[in-house]
Amino acid sequence: MKIAILRRPTFGANVVLIAAAIYLVAAVNGRFWSLVFDSAASGGISALAVLAVAIALLSLTLLMLLPLGLRWVMKPALVAVLILAAGAAYFISDYGAVIDRHALASVYESDAREASEWLSARMIWTIALYGLLPAALLCWIKVEWQPVWREAWSRFKLAALALFLLIGAALVSGKDIASLLRNNMALRFVVNPYSLLTAQLSYLDHARSDQMAWTSIALDAKRAAPLLAGRKPIVVILVIGESARASSLHLNGYGRDTDLELQPIPLVNFSHVSSCGTNTATSLPCMFSDLGRKYYDDSTAKHRDNLLDVLMRANYDVLWLDNNTGSKGLAKHATERNLANGTEPPLCGNEGCLDEVLLADLRQTLPTISKDTVIVVHMLGSHGPAYYARYPQEFAAFTPECRTNELQRCSDVEILNTYDNSILYTTHILANMIGLLDNQLSFSMPTSLSERRCLARRGQVAADAPACTTPSTPVNPSAASPSEQNVQSKPFDAALLFVSDHGESLGEHGLYLHGAPYAIAPNEQTHVPMMFWTSAGFNARRELDLNCLRQASSKDYSHDNFFHSVLGLTAVSTEVYRSELDLFAPCDRSSAASAN
Ligand SMILES: [Zn+2]
Repeated sequence: MKIAILRRPTFGANVVLIAAAIYLVAAVNGRFWSLVFDSAASGGISALAVLAVAIALLSLTLLMLLPLGLRWVMKPALVAVLILAAGAAYFISDYGAVIDRHALASVYESDAREASEWLSARMIWTIALYGLLPAALLCWIKVEWQPVWREAWSRFKLAALALFLLIGAALVSGKDIASLLRNNMALRFVVNPYSLLTAQLSYLDHARSDQMAWTSIALDAKRAAPLLAGRKPIVVILVIGESARASSLHLNGYGRDTDLELQPIPLVNFSHVSSCGTNTATSLPCMFSDLGRKYYDDSTAKHRDNLLDVLMRANYDVLWLDNNTGSKGLAKHATERNLANGTEPPLCGNEGCLDEVLLADLRQTLPTISKDTVIVVHMLGSHGPAYYARYPQEFAAFTPECRTNELQRCSDVEILNTYDNSILYTTHILANMIGLLDNQLSFSMPTSLSERRCLARRGQVAADAPACTTPSTPVNPSAASPSEQNVQSKPFDAALLFVSDHGESLGEHGLYLHGAPYAIAPNEQTHVPMMFWTSAGFNARRELDLNCLRQASSKDYSHDNFFHSVLGLTAVSTEVYRSELDLFAPCDRSSAASAN
């Protein structure tokens, strides 16, 4: 009598990897899919977008698994992935857990007693069904291996296919996917096993950086001759913009008058500046670090003196005013004031505070300054996707707007209009900051909505449209509020440098928001506005040749110039200062004079 034995089927390695990826996407991502389907059911994203998400997730998972496709490695590695993913799925589904480095730390740091408390029949059952069973199936099948070079070539083709599908999904439904991720912050922490991998990498990175010693730099920093203590205090304001892109400013050739309040001000506008990163978390610490983009590393920068530390060493008071997500530790040795958590209307509401809160604080703070001070003003600027919440209604010069944070509900024109209104408001804030700093300034500011709309559309309207009336409200000292008069009665020598942290995509190449990997990031995300203003009093002491600066203002610069240019501007001399990166240095008449 013969016993029928089921023969072990044989598959190529690519087939096994694809099957494992499909299984993981479908079987251990219950919470992820329920969030996605909820969004689709409420009209948040289309059915096509759900399909694009599935294709993108499958491609991403496959790309993660591909490095495991080696003989002797693939089976044990996939078994481990299946069991870990099943365990993660249990915590995500049954406990609503998110998988981040804190979750992993609590697992690693739990002792036997704690761990045993987690153990339940349901947990064992879940891991057995979703992890051990497919793992057993994987062990049972045979894998047919080809010669090494043929395996490598076939893996390369599979990687190319996965990349192609990933890019295709982004092109077809990028707007929906970006909006889905923005509005469901939890999604990226429940996608399995991707979040396991990123949490593990983040855990290792933090474990490494926690042990790093602090590096002090510029211990020799001191004030150089041009700005030694004078009769009046020096105030230098460094305004850090948010998601402002250079190409959306009229000053940089944009067809809309998005910066009409800046146009009468004698600025130096640097038109070709690139950012260090494409998100705040990278760009902000990078700008204030001496490392530069090439050598910038998050952990290294976190354990090292930054620009503000050097300025304080050179006897400047430093104040960080924030209407964004904070200084990320940059101001931990300085004074930091967070205005973003305000609740008082009309400047603050459910969707955060308007940048006017920064101006209001400056009106209070400036009259109290008696010592040379550098103030960092961190704006909320054009932070998306809720661009409409970044400006008050009288700045809605460009209509129709997109008055929702679900960008996919709006047309590209509506998104662009709304974003441009936020730029119009940002430049209004900048113009007013300069107005606060300078009692010499008298220029006309449009105040009514019709005036703003009319001016903002200048250049777009037909030639026979009625001409705009001249703005009617000149800024004059007698109209200033009591606190502004206080500023004027107690003047300082002031300068202001504005630069944005990164740009923003508004549908170009199918991309929205920001955060694209730098190597493939479009110009819209990396090309940022930067401008400089100085009061006559400041420049009488600092002696910068403004015409020379203007002539050099269209050269290529980057955030790498920020650290050294601020040191140059504030006349701080130190061994870490590099004059070739100081964009003020070639136009410094004081150093030319001292060199002669
Ligand atoms: Zn940002």
